[in-house]
Amino acid sequence: MRRLYHTDQDCPTYLLEYMLAAIGTPAARAAMAEYATSTHRQKNFMDLGFWLPADGKIAEARFTQHRSALRFQPVADTLTPEELIKLPHPVGLPISLVAEEKAQTMISWHYLTLDLTQVAGLPTLAFSRAHLVSPLHTGSWTLFCTISEQNLYTQAKLSTSEDEDPEQLALLRAQTINYQDAGKGELRLLPYDDQLVYRNGHTQSTAHVYGDVGGPPLGLSENPSCPICGKLMFHLCTIASTLREYGAGFRSAFLCEDCQQVASQSSGWN
Ligand SMILES: [Zn+2]
Repeated sequence: MRRLYHTDQDCPTYLLEYMLAAIGTPAARAAMAEYATSTHRQKNFMDLGFWLPADGKIAEARFTQHRSALRFQPVADTLTPEELIKLPHPVGLPISLVAEEKAQTMISWHYLTLDLTQVAGLPTLAFSRAHLVSPLHTGSWTLFCTISEQNLYTQAKLSTSEDEDPEQLALLRAQTINYQDAGKGELRLLPYDDQLVYRNGHTQSTAHVYGDVGGPPLGLSENPSCPICGKLMFHLCTIASTLREYGAGFRSAFLCEDCQQVASQSSGWN
């Protein structure tokens, strides 16, 4: 802690903040809360996936300690959507199978669905699956959806921070119409072991691996706060948009266990 308050040019503050986050023990998270409160640097820790509750006593990691790589495996073209949705982690579902009519108008693309009962370390949830989806939008966006106990999105609200590029939007619209049947498959959760290729802090150089479930968020975009209770949302997964080609960049899913909210979010490549 003393080092955090007395940093010098050789050891910038952010490095010591990263170290505190990497240690992650209850003592480190208590130090994090004390330091963040006294220096007003809460946002730095929120960007790393830590929530600072109002009582200021201990920071809370809003991600699982354990993570798995997500490997894509195509399915037979003859598989119907009704058969595809029965798989634990399907890719490429029709929107009508993941959202009720009211929310469907905001959603144009399905990247993946995860069976949350197979993801260790999540908070207790009233729903058992979550869907990473996209709106018809080309800039930075976060799509907040209310999810039912039947795992269907019932309401959707889009938050955007950039203007649309009309040409890109026209291309995306054409893709939405012409490629709804493309890129169907399922995901397998792989352990972080010596079968993966680790490079530049990610596992995506491994054949057919497009991202991870679990672990901290990338921090390339501002991590979303729940639109209902305001708490930093819990990071579920992050994949490259090339998993099921639509838009460009990373796509992440976040949860709020108290308010039945799932956020899908876009980030640029870096
Ligand atoms: Zn909430």
